[in-house]
Amino acid sequence: MIKNTLFIIISIITISSVFSQEVESKKDSIKNELSEFSDGPYIFIENNRLIEKTIVSGKVSSRVLKANAYDTVFTPEKSAFNKVKKIAALSDIHGQYDVAIELLKNNKIIDKNLNWNFGSGHLVIVGDIFDRGNKVNEMLWLIYKLEIQANNKGGRVHFLLGNHEYMILHKDLRYISEKYRLSSKLLNLEYDQLYSHKTIIGRWLRSKSTIIKINNNVFVHGGVSEDFIVNNDFNLEKINDVMRKSIERTKQEMKSTDFYNIYYGNKSLIWYRGYFNDNLTDSDISKILELVNSKHIIVGHCSNEEVVQLYENKIFGVDSSIKKGKYGELLFIENKQFFRGTLNGKKIQF
Ligand code: ZN
Repeated sequence: MIKNTLFIIISIITISSVFSQEVESKKDSIKNELSEFSDGPYIFIENNRLIEKTIVSGKVSSRVLKANAYDTVFTPEKSAFNKVKKIAALSDIHGQYDVAIELLKNNKIIDKNLNWNFGSGHLVIVGDIFDRGNKVNEMLWLIYKLEIQANNKGGRVHFLLGNHEYMILHKDLRYISEKYRLSSKLLNLEYDQLYSHKTIIGRWLRSKSTIIKINNNVFVHGGVSEDFIVNNDFNLEKINDVMRKSIERTKQEMKSTDFYNIYYGNKSLIWYRGYFNDNLTDSDISKILELVNSKHIIVGHCSNEEVVQLYENKIFGVDSSIKKGKYGELLFIENKQFFRGTLNGKKIQF
């Protein structure tokens, strides 16, 4: 009996000491992970002061910036552009910053120092920078910078909002990378608050368009469905304005009318997949193009292995699965001709 009891006691001590060693080593590995954890900057606007917060080695550092370090008011750009000589478009980067910069560099949109190199060209990001991958913030700041540099060279960067931008702005955080759960915890904020109206990038995002027209090409994340046009006179400025204002509306309120279904449903500009999934006929597509008064529509949202064309170059899909973190392409439009730009910078005409 005594022997047995002793055996049980020794066993318990042994097990608990192994267990506590495991807890200790787990603590150590979390510590190690934290010491390598960096993110930011996130720039907040508090009482007219700019506060930059950065996470370095798992610790938040905070500093006040000069009041004029960043614009705090962003005027929405117009929705239509004409006589543009060269256009490049890509989409669905989903935090895969490394693939995106490789693609942009090799296709000479940016130089080796990540500065604008596309002259008076227009670069269109057709939505979905947010979610899945873990370099979303880096990508946003790069686009933010390129936009300013492009403007100074007579070019433009258009960042169109996709369904994943609208999801984050409406606090749907299901698809964020684990990294950002830790970042927001360290910053003591919810993830969507890192892009709220009280941040530089948040204000910038809220000025962005959902759909634009350049020459004879419409760019939009999901696509334009016939159902959508039936519900709207096709006024781009008006549609972009409605979408921008919807960011501040709650889902519940939008769902109380048919608004949510029209602007956020599966036939909406940001969620539609009909060109790829609905077996539309050539005449369906021609009708849509006539209604939007354009020759081509360029969309993201539906993933393919490369940039693809449908309906004899009437529709282009530029989601080339950059989200997988391995490969990506972009679309070039020059002199009414269309080209795929491959990851290593080869140009292949459609
Ligand atoms: Zn999408």
